[in-house]
Amino acid sequence: KARTVLLATEKAFAADAVSKIEAVTSAAGYKLVRLENYKSKDDLLKAVADADAMIIRSDKVDQAVLDKAAKLKIVVRAGAGYDNIDLKATEGKGVVSMNTPGQNANAVAELVFGMMITSARNNYDGTSGFELVNRSIAFYGFGAVARAVHKLAQGFGMKSFAYDPYIPAEKIAEMGATPVATVAGLFEHQYVSLHVPLTAETKASINKALLMKMPKGGTLINTARCEVVHEADMVEVFKARQDFCYLCDVAPDDKAAKEAMTAAVGDKFGKRLIFTAKKMGAQTLEANDNCGVAAANQIVAFFEKGETRFALKA
Ligand code: NAD
Repeated sequence: KARTVLLATEKAFAADAVSKIEAVTSAAGYKLVRLENYKSKDDLLKAVADADAMIIRSDKVDQAVLDKAAKLKIVVRAGAGYDNIDLKATEGKGVVSMNTPGQNANAVAELVFGMMITSARNNYDGTSGFELVNRSIAFYGFGAVARAVHKLAQGFGMKSFAYDPYIPAEKIAEMGATPVATVAGLFEHQYVSLHVPLTAETKASINKALLMKMPKGGTLINTARCEVVHEADMVEVFKARQDFCYLCDVAPDDKAAKEAMTAAVGDKFGKRLIFTAKKMGAQTLEANDNCGVAAANQIVAFFEKGETRFALKA
């Protein structure tokens, strides 16, 4: 019997990406079942029963989903961050989990620059702003997205710095960024851009002590995950510093936290605090295609060739 791939996307992919995914699965002789824009977890629990493989986006794969997934062998998160997969639970069931590293990096990097320019030019309100050339940007985490931002920063004539304890300092230097030895060292620079995954180590790690160290016009850019920032501290920093800016693609899920930040900054004109309406970093035609097609290809390679190069570990 043909394998079934469930495309379970609470926020659907663009139609073009779905056709490209389907082209990959049908070429392999697999059946693609689409569960898009579903409204309740029950829909997912029903649909997963027949799936040999799953492609997801920010959809949560937890024990409840796995309990219903009798045939599931592999789940692929079409994107970078995989904090929505309970890896202990998938490992416990012998299900392989993967992400599609790097496939949306350029999309996020372009958004970072979009937000930086919007802020530097005072949200285009007619007043004089400043240029990015010769300014410095420091990366917390130097993976695919940070490197894509760094490449653009080089084009803008900016100076890059990076802290990533999992990458040798020489390698960071080879890529043209200056390695920084501690997280605190990043906050000596005007721009700090967060590109770490959400883990126990990074959760709430960006706090008041770090943010207060930033030079005048200090700007934090967050396209990683809202939980990496200590939200109550951020409110205090806005109150204490009139010059501090926060450019954020991952607004707090918690409405009260978001409102507290907005109230603390009192920034009617959107110069100092930018929240995108929804997480938009990877929301481009290209990133949808790249991540979706990579996910489908990884599933086919896994079944046909036992390929597990992108397998994740708890
Ligand atoms: P990646 O895996 O390529 O890079 C992450 C880097 O962080 C790695 O180099 C790793 O060594 C480093 N790292 C891990 N723990 C660290 C720590 N404690 N301190 C410093 N560095 C640490 O991932 P990526 O594609 O660059 O994406 C980074 C994160 O951005 C993702 O985990 C995801 O949460 C987020 N993201 C958001 C969007 C969006 O739509 N806004 C899109 C893509 C990725």
